[in-house]
Amino acid sequence: MLNIESSADWPCLSAGLAPRPRRWTAVLLAAFSLLGASLSTGRCGTTFSAPLERYGFRHPAMGTLFLTTFYAPSEAVAEAAARAAFKRIDTLEDIMSDYEADSELMRLCGQPAGKPVSVSADLFDVLEQAQRASKLSDGAFDVTVGPFVRLWRFSRKRGVLPRPAEIAAARQAVGWRKVRLDARHRTVTLLAPKMRLDLGGIAKGYAADQALKVLKARGLDRALVAASGDIAIGDPPPGKRGWEIGVSPIGSLTNGVALTLLLHNAGISTSGDTEQYVEINGVRYSHIVNPATGLGLTERIQVTIVGPNATTTDSLATGVSVLGKKRGLALIDSLPNTAALILTKENGKSQAFPSRRFEDLPRPSKVRGSERTR
Ligand code: ADP
Ligand code: MG
Repeated sequence: MLNIESSADWPCLSAGLAPRPRRWTAVLLAAFSLLGASLSTGRCGTTFSAPLERYGFRHPAMGTLFLTTFYAPSEAVAEAAARAAFKRIDTLEDIMSDYEADSELMRLCGQPAGKPVSVSADLFDVLEQAQRASKLSDGAFDVTVGPFVRLWRFSRKRGVLPRPAEIAAARQAVGWRKVRLDARHRTVTLLAPKMRLDLGGIAKGYAADQALKVLKARGLDRALVAASGDIAIGDPPPGKRGWEIGVSPIGSLTNGVALTLLLHNAGISTSGDTEQYVEINGVRYSHIVNPATGLGLTERIQVTIVGPNATTTDSLATGVSVLGKKRGLALIDSLPNTAALILTKENGKSQAFPSRRFEDLPRPSKVRGSERTR
């Protein structure tokens, strides 16, 4: 798990749209289950002449808490920007929700198989990025897993695994190649009946990226937006090389930061089974489904990805969880500007598997007590 560290960079989020939580640090640690990082170093500048102050805001959406922190010249500017960023997230939630029967996504799924359906630019964009992740991961990441996810939810309720016949029936409506995108006409065609798309593995990263864009458009570049385990990171805080983000060991919910990264202009995501799983006959099934089996993953694995943006890292973290450490690391090493840390737990023993570029990610120069020494 990744945490935004309660370092000197984090203590006083001085303004909020909602009352500041009493245990802000705990909220940060729990809600930012991922950390962001960047592979490059860089600088940034704003056009404001007033000295910049740090502001933080939070907003519930997509079943989680979105947090943003950024530097702005005044509280009025900061509040207006945060409102605009959160409004963008709410718009995306309305489009992409699979809980709301009348979301654009669910309306698309309700159309007859084989019919090209015109969709919004946002839905097309996120589906295009999802298809890219499916291609890269050889189908390990697959937003058509909705029917399998539905079975997983029933299993969680009833405490029994789906029957093979149920899996076989669901499989008819699963497969990323059953989604056809036409960029020229901006249409989506679902090729099989009863398909049900599930953007749970990419939507939070996408929304964080889009919210960061809203802040940037207002000149607030020194910013980050976090949605649980997915963080979109902009330019560094003034006078800093990056945002400090901590990665926690597998199974850790709030503390025990294993290492800290210093990131900017990047995305970082962590996927794992720490919070969401169902246990049946002593076996733990994660909410991440293997499209090949139709069942939740049973290996204990936590994947942190650092990459160019949070849409990419969110989808890759889910996909690499399915691929497992060997194929997952091979994929990450083949991609530019991307790094991963895979943590596994077998027979009570935790092991870490960094990708080739992970060790090169910038770290704060100060060595902290809780940090692993290298
Ligand atoms: P979280 O949302 O808990 O941070 P992930 O980003 O890994 O974790 O997304 C998990 C969600 O993605 C699941 O709850 C489900 O909605 C969806 N999902 C499950 N398996 C897959 C898969 N193989 N490919 C794409 N999405 C998936
Ligand atoms: Mg994901």
